[in-house]
Amino acid sequence: MLLDVIGCSPAWPNPGQAHAGYLVTASSGERLLLDCGPGVLSRLRKRERLPIDAIAITHLHLDHWGDLVPWCWLRGPDAQRGALRPELWLPPGGLASLDRFAALFGSDRMFERTFVVKEYSPGEPFTTAGCQVEAIPVAHYDVQSFGFRVVDDAVLSYSGDSAPCEALGELAESADLFLCEATLSKASDDSEPRGHLTAEEAGEAAGTARLLLVHRPAELGAAAGAELAVPDLHIEL
Ligand SMILES: [Zn+2]
Repeated sequence: MLLDVIGCSPAWPNPGQAHAGYLVTASSGERLLLDCGPGVLSRLRKRERLPIDAIAITHLHLDHWGDLVPWCWLRGPDAQRGALRPELWLPPGGLASLDRFAALFGSDRMFERTFVVKEYSPGEPFTTAGCQVEAIPVAHYDVQSFGFRVVDDAVLSYSGDSAPCEALGELAESADLFLCEATLSKASDDSEPRGHLTAEEAGEAAGTARLLLVHRPAELGAAAGAELAVPDLHIEL
């Protein structure tokens, strides 16, 4: 299993960087993109042959799905429209939300025309792009949000956006790599209910798993003792 960081910005973009987008290449060679925030499609096109096989979205805050919109307007060989539509895995009820967006700002059924849209359910692992993926609910303000455990010949876990919660330990357990958000400088900067983590809280959640901090503002920079994701980071698991 390979991981390539396409973008790893927090809710506001780090200078010159894309929002959340993590490309997993399975041992089969199939490719799964975890989240698709603004700026991800451009960076993906620069380095990858499209279409990829599947996309999975942790939650519907725009910094995690916004580039699905320009993806709908792709033309030319990258798109191969109607032939190789990527699977798009959304949280429960996600398609209805995207369809409301399409009715307001896009065109009818734009997402269904571009992707093979599916919705995952907590507790029901699904298979896509050569991986088994489990979506585990995490705490993120009052927004429905999930982390992913992606299993192939290794286990890669991703927190999505999350406040401290027991589910993070479940995600990280026995993972070869845990991509965990670390948006905050200190816990008191958060709202109530909480939505994000400090680097120290990410470290506690990771346990013994190898930790890679993501969703980290450039203003905060690295945290002592933790690896920090940067665009184009490539990790073999
Ligand atoms: Zn969020």
